[in-house]
Amino acid sequence: MSIRVLPSNLINQIAAGEVVERPASVLKELVENAIDAGATEIDIVIRQGGRSFLSVVDNGCGISADDLPLALERHATSKLKDDNLFSIHTLGFRGEALPAIASVSRMEITSKVSTASDAWVLSVEGGVKSPLKPAQCPNGTRIEIRDLFYATPARLKFLRSAPTETNHIVSILERLALASSHISFSLKDENKTLCNFKRGGIEQEENLKRLSDIIGKDFSSNAIHIQAEHESLSLYGWIGIPTYHRNTANDHYCFVNGRPVRDKIFNAAFRVAYQDFMPRDKFPVGALFLSLPLEEVDINVHPAKTEVRFRDQDRVRNFLISSIKHHLRQSSSQNPQHLTNALIDRLMPTLPLHKAEAYNPSIPLRATQNNQRSYVADFSFPPSPSLIKEGGARDVSVEIIGHQMDHQEDIPPLGYAKAQLHTTYIIAETRDGVVVVDQHAAHERLVYEQLKCSMKQAPLARQVLLIPDIIEIGETKCRKLLQYQEDLLWFGLMIEPFGKGTILVREAPSILGPTTQFQGLIYDLLHEIEDLGEAFSLKDKIEEVAATIACHGSIRSGRRLTLPEMDALLRDMEKTPHSGQCNHGRPTYIKLEKADLEKLFGRR
Ligand code: ADP
Ligand code: MG
Repeated sequence: MSIRVLPSNLINQIAAGEVVERPASVLKELVENAIDAGATEIDIVIRQGGRSFLSVVDNGCGISADDLPLALERHATSKLKDDNLFSIHTLGFRGEALPAIASVSRMEITSKVSTASDAWVLSVEGGVKSPLKPAQCPNGTRIEIRDLFYATPARLKFLRSAPTETNHIVSILERLALASSHISFSLKDENKTLCNFKRGGIEQEENLKRLSDIIGKDFSSNAIHIQAEHESLSLYGWIGIPTYHRNTANDHYCFVNGRPVRDKIFNAAFRVAYQDFMPRDKFPVGALFLSLPLEEVDINVHPAKTEVRFRDQDRVRNFLISSIKHHLRQSSSQNPQHLTNALIDRLMPTLPLHKAEAYNPSIPLRATQNNQRSYVADFSFPPSPSLIKEGGARDVSVEIIGHQMDHQEDIPPLGYAKAQLHTTYIIAETRDGVVVVDQHAAHERLVYEQLKCSMKQAPLARQVLLIPDIIEIGETKCRKLLQYQEDLLWFGLMIEPFGKGTILVREAPSILGPTTQFQGLIYDLLHEIEDLGEAFSLKDKIEEVAATIACHGSIRSGRRLTLPEMDALLRDMEKTPHSGQCNHGRPTYIKLEKADLEKLFGRR
């Protein structure tokens, strides 16, 4: 067999295999080119999920008639000015997208530079160029792609349905639009507008607006603004408060030096920073814009340029985690507004819509659509057993029990307790509303925060297990875990090797109940250790480990509380960071403003 150099169109098709996975990747390359060309308006039209037609029109610098044929040559670019792969200011630099796309589709590029009087058009079919022709076009570039993958039918078979491909396109465009709030973007499918981002005034405001368009209308009122700097690293963005979570990591929007990336370092940072406040199967949302010197990051990892490699991974990772944590801590008292809104939304349809229909005690409770009794009726109903103190009935009228609020005094944020319901909920009156506290969740959080504190000072008390627990985890994991044998003692866990791939738990933290499943705890700890990367001491990771341990412990459950006890709990919550959600990310309290109540009762 003799060796031959492949024909150039085949080389381009091979490159297309990596660069052009689906219509969305074509869109990404073309829009990146438009952004690099300095455009301020980018308009996209697609048909059939981009498979039969995809066009991108920009008002950027354009391509001159001389350069047009060159733009379609492999490895031809205007962007690597000083031949330095570590000083890339543009989104593109590899000079391979246009020839790759042209090799698998029918492409037409029309472009006009502002200094020329005419526009020129170049057509390519399956990589074969036709001669340049004069054309009509305003300053900028229009690229039309037809019949994507017609030249590589095998690829065509991998495409999904038009709506799925359209979703991919929207998702890519959203990411690019988030990174470039100084540019207007529109995306149309036939005549339907799928995205419309207008460039606005202040960049950061526009950014938050776009994020809310993408993540959800209520994101902006449930977002924490992030701004952090450390040595050469800087970060800004918005993250959701911990009770605002999702079932997937799809709403993590991550950018490095203005480039949308999908890097596990960001996902890991989100997970580690929020793990204290979120159930394991939920994901936070938010956008993180990281900037660092160009020479500290390599973007030439994959042709699609969505992966990056940091010179110092751990430094970036720690910076991201500590910045997110810091801001979470600072805003831990932020009211979960989306929960109040959701509650109101849920209650509204069950409420009498007209004032004439208002609650009348002689009419039996109405069942709501989903057969739940109306919450409102519950609140206004006769004494619940938990309101009756041992030894005698207690006045139910919420107005006269508990702390008497004086209009002059400073009322604390969570107000004063007025009642306890179902030995579970504390109702407190605040200056301008009502707070309902899940006493168990709140207490769990307080205990956990104390636990974290005390663990920083002294080892956790241990208790010998009556029957040591034997857990099989495999040899690699065993080796990994046993490296931390010493460290784990601090956390109240005494483990020993116990033959092939097995460990034995001899002593465990006394705070963990007798029914604790150590298998789960050990697996979670391993997960933690693998997650945290190499070479660290578990003691530096008290919070992470404490969270894992606390998660498996059972902490005192709800009981009847006196009003002073309830008030004390409220005051503790105000003092304790992160008391707005329990360890599993559920809220510990819900707040209803007076205005919300007025809305509910049709007074507004
Ligand atoms: P790269 O972006 O990596 O340079 P491409 O194959 O995507 O490679 O594009 C090749 C060249 O074509 C670019 O370097 C640029 O000079 C030119 N070009 C492509 N699209 C546009 C556009 N929309 N406006 C102006 N120039 C463009
Ligand atoms: Mg490009």
